Amino acid sequence: MPKEGNKQAVNLKPETQNSKPDSHPMDYLLREDRLPHIWCSGCGIGVALTCFIKALEKSGLNLDKVAVVSGIGCTGRVAGYVKLDSFHTTHGRAIPFATGLKLANPELKVVVFSGDGDLIAIGGNHLIHAARRNVDMTIICVNNFNYGMTGGQVGPTTPVGATTSTSPYGCFEYPFNLPYLAAASGAVYVARWTALHVRRLEKSILDALHKRGFSFVEIISPCPTLYGRWNKQRTGLAQMQYYHDKGVIKHGIDPKEADIELGGEIIEGVFVDVEKPTFLDFCRRALAKGVSDQ
Ligand code: SF4
Repeated sequence: MPKEGNKQAVNLKPETQNSKPDSHPMDYLLREDRLPHIWCSGCGIGVALTCFIKALEKSGLNLDKVAVVSGIGCTGRVAGYVKLDSFHTTHGRAIPFATGLKLANPELKVVVFSGDGDLIAIGGNHLIHAARRNVDMTIICVNNFNYGMTGGQVGPTTPVGATTSTSPYGCFEYPFNLPYLAAASGAVYVARWTALHVRRLEKSILDALHKRGFSFVEIISPCPTLYGRWNKQRTGLAQMQYYHDKGVIKHGIDPKEADIELGGEIIEGVFVDVEKPTFLDFCRRALAKGVSDQ
């Protein structure tokens, strides 16, 4: 089995990057030929991507060994925009794909960047089992409380009472509390931030990238075109104002206290940061021990 490690920093930023008058500081990590992006004005996914790229720049990771995997949905487009080894996979299957990458090549730093519809609905079973196994990967989950790309339908994170295109009388299902779900499933690092709290979000992504094991960062993010429009927050700015007014930082609390209710507080912070052997650690131990000694 190849040795795990990703410590050698490689600066892929071209020296000439900022000499072009129309260049953006992040151009070297974006596939310009895929731009302009598809995201609506006021959407928070661009903010999430910016925080990820900033964290990558600070991480010292060898960017040649970073793989980004996305599923389907508005957030799933991230894999197509980053100039890294990236994979835009089938709906809900980003985590199994990422697991295969990591097991086949433990040198990789594998990041799954996808939305709540993809990761928590159709992909929910994969999420809990990858966390249970403590597979070494970082999950960045953009949660905008609905299925954005397909028309703003109710989803597994839609708060009770929230209106969507398929819940015109208000959602009457309880939503998943994502930090609680990830922590209960076994994640070693769990954090939640809104797209407004960019410095803290960037720091959490950086910490998650450096973590061994299954790390999970939830980003509460505006979807003004669909979720916001149905819930009296018609602009990205209105949604950011809501995060400003309702965001409360509570590091270290039991994540089961971080439920989201319509119109209520949004509890943010780092809720879990622990160490334990990863799935690959167990694989190596078993291989070192040998079959005959089992
Ligand atoms: Fe963003 Fe919502 Fe537009 Fe999708 S539909 S790009 S999530 S604002």
